[in-house]
Amino acid sequence: MPTPFSGGCACGAVRYECTTEPLISLKCHCRDCQRASGSAFAPMLYVATATLTSTGELKYYEVKAASGRTFSRGFCPQCGSPVLPERASPELIGIWAASLDDPSWGQPTMDVWTGSAQPWDYLNPHLPKYKQQLTAEEIEVLLAARS
Ligand SMILES: [Zn+2]
Ligand SMILES: [Zn+2]
Repeated sequence: MPTPFSGGCACGAVRYECTTEPLISLKCHCRDCQRASGSAFAPMLYVATATLTSTGELKYYEVKAASGRTFSRGFCPQCGSPVLPERASPELIGIWAASLDDPSWGQPTMDVWTGSAQPWDYLNPHLPKYKQQLTAEEIEVLLAARS
């Protein structure tokens, strides 16, 4: 994946740029991502918060995620595209992979929340599967493996 990489919403009002490669790339099959995307899953990238800058106004709404945690999802108020959810942790922020200028960069490496995956969705049998979200410990292991 090239760095910096960039992306934005469908109408171009919201743009972002990130100077480092994503640390985690996954497909989230939780009910909340299904509702927010209108699809079977959300392809998400997680990058170090400090390496991402965005321009344009994002609107946020609060959701109670399947994990029980409350967080905000950011979307473009002009075109409604989901772009950047509020940070997943103090260090990580999510990007909807389909908002990348070249979405082929967003190669997912795992499936999470497969407990609510839809029967009509095809899950790549070669990717690791997590029934729910990644635990803080699992995230630490993934991040340590990258550095
Ligand atoms: Zn837009
Ligand atoms: Zn989700």
